[in-house]
Amino acid sequence: MIGVLALQGGFAEHLAVLRELGLDACEVRTREELMDERLRGLIIPGGESTVMAKFIDEYSLRDVICARAQIPDFRIYGTCAGLILLAKDVPNLKAQPLGLLDVSVERNAYGRQLDSFIAELEIGKAHFIRAPKITRVGEGVEILASYDGSPVLVRQGNIWGSTFHPELAGELAIHKLIFRP
Ligand code: GLN
Repeated sequence: MIGVLALQGGFAEHLAVLRELGLDACEVRTREELMDERLRGLIIPGGESTVMAKFIDEYSLRDVICARAQIPDFRIYGTCAGLILLAKDVPNLKAQPLGLLDVSVERNAYGRQLDSFIAELEIGKAHFIRAPKITRVGEGVEILASYDGSPVLVRQGNIWGSTFHPELAGELAIHKLIFRP
């Protein structure tokens, strides 16, 4: 079972992609749901990172997510705001990120004219919506895709993040890569 954090933002599209891949998927909102033994992965969707960070602490989910991240087989994927929350260092986030992915991220890094756009990456169509930029990657972080000179899809062991939304284009490749057993 793959859980999609459903506190705020675009969780429904991730559920649809997982189900299209034939994977069991469910919404998760509570500590109990996050600790469910059947869960073998988690998606943190896009949305508004400040709000999601607030809810994560309000519902006391921080330590459970971090504990899950320590399990090598438990895969976590953050898209956009989800990536911001996973990052180690986000100078322009007025909340504490989870610090599970050794990258620095700048929120809303594409200026007004490029606020939101769609790009064709090798891995498929990518929606960038008020997207962040990855400005530094730590030593253990693999860059799996870049756009315009910046990494846009990265992985550190079991933790994955993209600055864009594959799920909005109905792209299956990344979810398949991460979550198909
Ligand atoms: N701009 C949002 C933030 O900083 C992220 C946007 C998104 O998730 N599409 O939280």
